[in-house]
Amino acid sequence: MILSERKKTNQLLSNCILIFNEMNVKDFERIKRWASYAKHDVGYYSIFSLTQSIYDTLWNRNEAVEEGFSKYLNRRTTEYREMLNYHNKNCEGNCLVCKDRQVIKDLLGIDYERTES
Ligand SMILES: [Zn+2]
Repeated sequence: MILSERKKTNQLLSNCILIFNEMNVKDFERIKRWASYAKHDVGYYSIFSLTQSIYDTLWNRNEAVEEGFSKYLNRRTTEYREMLNYHNKNCEGNCLVCKDRQVIKDLLGIDYERTES
């Protein structure tokens, strides 16, 4: 299945909730700025620009600097995606995972919910 750039970007957003949660206010502002532009600019709503915005914030994480941004982002998003898959099968209502996702969604003003399983 070929996903549109927007869907792929939404997937990335969806898999970054934990990373966003760990950000300090200033770093998360960077992501909010991305969201505020991307909402009105189809070309900017892309894996590339989102990834660059996330990379901008990773300088503050020793772990990410040591591992390399690309490897770090891949590893963390894969871990979260696996956790999310488990959650989606087992969640019975409003849990912490649901709540975290909703908070980020509200802060970014983007509905990135995945529709495919
Ligand atoms: Zn839940």
